[in-house]
Amino acid sequence: MDKTLPSDACRYFNEAMETLDRPQIEALQLERLQATVRRCMNSPFYKERFEQAGLKPEDIRSLDDLRRIPFTTKKDLRDTYPFGISCVPLRECVRLHSSSGTTGNPTVILHTQNDLDEWANQVARNLWMVGLRPDDVFQNSSGYGMFTGGLGFQYGAERLGMLTIPAAAGNSLRQIKFMTDFGTTALHAVPSYVTRLYEVMQSCGVDPRKDTKLRVLAIGAEPHSEEQRKRIEEMMGVKAYNSFGMSEMCGPGVGFECPEQNGLHFWEDYYIVEIVDPETLEPVPDGEVGELVLTSLCREAMPLLRYRTRDLTRVLGRTCPCGRNHVRLDRMRGRSDDMMVLRGVNIFPIQIEKILMQFPELANNYLITLTTDDDNDNMTVEVELEELFTDDYQRLQGLQKRIQRALKDEILLTPHVKLVPKGTLPVSEGKAVRVSDKRKVYQ
Ligand code: AMP
Ligand code: ZN
Repeated sequence: MDKTLPSDACRYFNEAMETLDRPQIEALQLERLQATVRRCMNSPFYKERFEQAGLKPEDIRSLDDLRRIPFTTKKDLRDTYPFGISCVPLRECVRLHSSSGTTGNPTVILHTQNDLDEWANQVARNLWMVGLRPDDVFQNSSGYGMFTGGLGFQYGAERLGMLTIPAAAGNSLRQIKFMTDFGTTALHAVPSYVTRLYEVMQSCGVDPRKDTKLRVLAIGAEPHSEEQRKRIEEMMGVKAYNSFGMSEMCGPGVGFECPEQNGLHFWEDYYIVEIVDPETLEPVPDGEVGELVLTSLCREAMPLLRYRTRDLTRVLGRTCPCGRNHVRLDRMRGRSDDMMVLRGVNIFPIQIEKILMQFPELANNYLITLTTDDDNDNMTVEVELEELFTDDYQRLQGLQKRIQRALKDEILLTPHVKLVPKGTLPVSEGKAVRVSDKRKVYQ
């Protein structure tokens, strides 16, 4: 565990690990995979899985042998609720995080002290990578509690040595007061919340460029388009870096953009990354979209082998001008379970967002509603207008038609488009809810 901070002049938080070349990454991964597999034999769940597959820990002799190990799924986590996957006795665990599922048991993730220390190192590595140093002031607008974005960023930012403000979610006026009074230079927020925060800033006459010292945003936890990121950077006058994490792999820290902003570096000293075809479960070639599958390499309490994340992405490259060779993945398109199937066409909310964000007349909040009308499935896209010109009917109608046409080119269906005044669509405190599916389900 690396606890000593590098000097402020260093580009890397952990230079040795961040600049490994491909053969070194693979050698380290094999060693850590073998140790993880041995550790997994303490888990009743994995022990049984291996027995069923006729596999022994000694059979994992190369990284290719990873493919002999069965996948782990969210259902497995639910079925073994609460502690069935754990590899250590409960007395060795110091933290539990849990995500509430919409159906069935929630999922539980256990951590030893070492897990928490390594997690803090991962987050600190990311924040250092985007230029944050102990002199920075870091404000975290994530919910604190079971959601890992709160404590995950808290410990990581503290590990880096920054003054860290656990502002927690919501209460925008208080967030803005903290930012101006405490000289916040870096903020972590879900992207949909940044746009809300900006609107409140505008309404109380605060200009983030002039009235705050903000220079870095970490945005993530929910899918967002490149267009949305650009808007956020523009309005806040800062760089916004995409941050990927999931509770099953600790939380934030798993993948993060470097200053090149050319995809997310996924840390291969902590995880093995596979991209597979969600149907055949066979690996897809670099550049092709598939499901992200992660194997944790440093977790003690609850390592997960070949965990199917349901997130869809692709490999962009395995080198980078920043000097880090850890694999670069494209921003997530969404989860396979976010995909809407409308009249046989597969559509992701992010495709709609990408189009909407190209219209300067539109604000950032939108809602997609699916309904069944006269036995036909329909989509309505409600989107907020940047400024009100509802009395100019012709202009409004023209805009609506242009949006409709652009959406049709992207999703191959013509949705209804409703332009609504700013501030009328619901805003959630955590991850944004973009789709409301009210279709009739035929049994
Ligand atoms: P949770 O475990 O509740 O924090 O949720 C993790 C899930 O959030 C991931 O599996 C992704 O679906 C989503 N997620 C997290 N970070 C990002 C990101 N940067 N871009 C897109 N989706 C994300
Ligand atoms: Zn890079």
